Amino acid sequence: MCGIVGFTGKQQAVPVLLQGLTTLEYRGYDSAGVTLQTNNGIQTIKSLGRIAVLEEKIGTMGEIDAVCGIGHTRWATHGAPSDRNSHPHESMDGRIALVHNGIIENYLELRNQLIAEGVVFKSDTDSEVVAHLFAKHYKGDNVQAMMDTCRELRGSYALAVITSDRLGEMICTRHDNPLIVGVGEGENMIASDIPAIMSITKNFMVVGDGEIVRVRPEGVEVFSAEGQPVEKEIQTVTWDIQGAQKGGYDHFMIKEIMEQPKAVKDTVSSRITDEDMPYLMDEGVGEEVFKNIRNVHIVACGSAYYAGMAGKVAFERLARIPVLGNVASEFRYSDPIIDKDDLCIVISQSGETADTLAALREAKARGAKTVAIVNVLASSAAREADHVIYTWAGPEIAVATTKAYSAQLSVMYLLALTAAKARGTLSDEEIRTYCRALRDLPAQIEQTLATAEAMKDLAQLYHERNDSFFIGRGIDYMTCQEASLKLKEIAYVHSEAYAGGELKHGPISLIEDGTPVIALDCDPALHEKQISNIKSVKARGAKVILITNGDFEIDETMCDHVVKIPACPYFMAASLAILPVQFYAYYVGVFRGCDIDKPRNLAKSVTVE
Ligand code: GLU
Repeated sequence: MCGIVGFTGKQQAVPVLLQGLTTLEYRGYDSAGVTLQTNNGIQTIKSLGRIAVLEEKIGTMGEIDAVCGIGHTRWATHGAPSDRNSHPHESMDGRIALVHNGIIENYLELRNQLIAEGVVFKSDTDSEVVAHLFAKHYKGDNVQAMMDTCRELRGSYALAVITSDRLGEMICTRHDNPLIVGVGEGENMIASDIPAIMSITKNFMVVGDGEIVRVRPEGVEVFSAEGQPVEKEIQTVTWDIQGAQKGGYDHFMIKEIMEQPKAVKDTVSSRITDEDMPYLMDEGVGEEVFKNIRNVHIVACGSAYYAGMAGKVAFERLARIPVLGNVASEFRYSDPIIDKDDLCIVISQSGETADTLAALREAKARGAKTVAIVNVLASSAAREADHVIYTWAGPEIAVATTKAYSAQLSVMYLLALTAAKARGTLSDEEIRTYCRALRDLPAQIEQTLATAEAMKDLAQLYHERNDSFFIGRGIDYMTCQEASLKLKEIAYVHSEAYAGGELKHGPISLIEDGTPVIALDCDPALHEKQISNIKSVKARGAKVILITNGDFEIDETMCDHVVKIPACPYFMAASLAILPVQFYAYYVGVFRGCDIDKPRNLAKSVTVE
């Protein structure tokens, strides 16, 4: 997974490419590079490290006069991050340069063939084979060469190629990885994601799977995989580039935490009718989707999976439909028991998560109905599922999700309420009451943002501890799992999430004097049981932070700190309880000096298996 970008026009290409790459850094950031078309052939500059390092290197080289070029920010899959493994990769004669996002699965076979034909490789990447293959097929017609090249490739790719002989021209394609074309006036761009093109235009077209695009300053031609011309619709971005920038906050993560009331509001408000009923008919998800199904399968990865598991609580308790939850990477290879009587819901912020996409295809192939919950417009999952429900969270830049997760939760509630209506498990009056609560949720989230200061103080107090526990029951247990993931990924703190009742079956032996335990208690029906579990860790020396919406007496045998959050219907509590723990993870990460928006070893859009 990585970010690719390309520019052709009249202005200098270097600043446009660097600006584009910076907006794509969330997709990968172990190394970066650009290739420019100059009057003396193509020139490649690349280096290990962030875009800033590349920028510095380019700065030492004097003016590079070029109005066309391609760029890449890498998240290595084949070959360690290093200067020579960075993209772009060139053909042996230096006439062709290529950037690649994805994985070429048959690269070894192709590499051996090419070596036998006399090719000398300069890197360990899978991507370099594509540069040499393209060079082999290129006889002056770059569309034909791209078609011939792709015929030999297996795997996933978004590719952009420039050649030294066709000035101002880029040739690009994609298969299972994202690619858009920014359509400007007398200048055009290609990129992995929309923010990268916004320095020149808000108009873009989405490249379809297998399509080939030839981009020149004066226009864009699109061809099918067979080389036939294709007409494309031009879409316009409705948000501003500011929306994709930090807006005064220190990090994207904190900005995105603060944007959660809006993300949830935008996601739910048009989906609750004036009669206070859930409405997903614009997406084609009416009651009939749920009428005769046997099981709901929820398949996702990471935080999206935990959003799905909070949804499982809502589905099972409200609509009484059995929900099977699976992480996508397991589902795919489990010979899953799923057929036309089942509904499969996949969840992915990017809509490009490789494991989730594969699971979606598996479920479809077995006849299941599919619904995708995604944040990125026109992404692969959005296009492939029978129905797509967009979360309107806006671009999420921080690697660790916050606002997209919250928006996903709210879609799960809407789906569960629609299912409850279809199955007659709740009265219309009950559904109306819950819909009103859902409409009030953004305001309650706003209120809960006020826990930031208290959580910052607690983070200050405990940030040096290397182990933490989160405990909760029912819906709180689902929130605990997401909370624990946040602390791991942002602050590099070892952390475990346990169902409150599970502690006594082993993990309680890990509680020592001073171990921070964050206890969630947001379902009044489970309150007494949870308090017993909390007391048992407190008695063993834990420092307990209690996050609760309950109205009861609290004493020092129960906790060291208490954080109050608003009360809401129990199944929606995940949407409020997650805020203080997001703040906690964020500030612990800040106090530990972590790279908040780009945690080590991670990337935003996980397009590899
Ligand atoms: N597989 C390629 C590499 O390791 C591309 C990875 C990416 O998408 O950044 O270089």
